[in-house]
Amino acid sequence: MKENAVAQSPFPLSEGEYTTVVLKAIENRVAESRASLARHLGLSRTTASTIVSRLIRLNLLKEKNLLREGRGRPGILLDLDESVWRAVGAEYHSGSWSFVETDLKGSIVRTMSVKVADRAPDSFLNSLVQGLSIFKKEVSGELLPAFGIGVPGLVDCDRGLIIRADDLGWQNILVSEYVEKRLKSKALLINRNRGAGLAEARFGGGRAAHQLVYIGIGTGISAAFIIDGALIHGSSFGTGEIGHITINKTGPLCACGKRGCLHVYSSGTAIARMVTAALNEGRESLLRFTMEEQQSISGEDVCMAANEGDSLALDSLREASRQLGLAIANIITISNPDKVIIGGPIGSIDSPLIGYLREEAERWAMPHAFSAVKIERSTLGESVGALGGACLVLDHKLSLAAKVRKK
Ligand SMILES: [Zn+2]
Repeated sequence: MKENAVAQSPFPLSEGEYTTVVLKAIENRVAESRASLARHLGLSRTTASTIVSRLIRLNLLKEKNLLREGRGRPGILLDLDESVWRAVGAEYHSGSWSFVETDLKGSIVRTMSVKVADRAPDSFLNSLVQGLSIFKKEVSGELLPAFGIGVPGLVDCDRGLIIRADDLGWQNILVSEYVEKRLKSKALLINRNRGAGLAEARFGGGRAAHQLVYIGIGTGISAAFIIDGALIHGSSFGTGEIGHITINKTGPLCACGKRGCLHVYSSGTAIARMVTAALNEGRESLLRFTMEEQQSISGEDVCMAANEGDSLALDSLREASRQLGLAIANIITISNPDKVIIGGPIGSIDSPLIGYLREEAERWAMPHAFSAVKIERSTLGESVGALGGACLVLDHKLSLAAKVRKK
């Protein structure tokens, strides 16, 4: 925020809006005391102090005494109060729900995971509600009254609806309404990879990035485009649906109904399909044992085998990276990001895939744009998507805390 942006506005903000701005200024470390808040936001000392006192009463801010050396009174610094409120986020991936509880600073306090029996939407919804109701009972502080939920597919965030999740064959699932009716608490829905991207932007490798692209690779592929911490949704929540970029007009049919989408070449499902076909043709591989043991292969299994030097696994990752690397190159050329983070259940495994993707992206991107970007692997771990859900709750902490305290 520009200095004195508030004071220069011809339209003064309401008290509630000033409260939001003050909380954001402390959270983003634009200011750290009553005096610097007043100075940065163009508020009187009395107004700044009144708003800070309200935020302290709501347990959103706390004061810390800073001892100064020598003479003079100790300084009083302001910071988010991480001791009281807790946010709960959830995410569905690899056939399981994962849950996280965080404090106001997004530090993970507790996690839980629940396996979902099958891929039917009813099982998916039931286990979400059961998991949330168990998980919220053990919350270590006061619960901000909302749940942030990361799900696969194209999501209408306003309606809390999965419009379609093609790799799972799902359409029109009203997730938020289902949760809200049963748990009597607000449910905020987001695509799981958009959520993970938000978590990376707030708490992970994307913290310092102005223009961040997060690419999640799991059973499907989708991305988050984040500019200065704000997620770009597009006009109908479709920004980031890179799994359905057309790679080959006459390629294999995708579950979305089009041909030759990125998804059919580079998703975990596609990698597993490639390996299975090669095994059926008699190719030697460590993955033959996995196949015999589990009756199926996942993209994650292929990454693990690649790490052991298995040549079929390495070839399959190389092949998948050709199309995905090309897509990443095009994204870099058109959006000129300073960071691309590769994540999701497959992208976050430390495997040769990230190196292959870098090579392909460099081969096809415009050198000017490529020289400005860092391509990194996600390091926030497997709770990143659920942490993204918690980010949605934390974004509303002021209104949610005020609702509980009725202030
Ligand atoms: Zn498609």
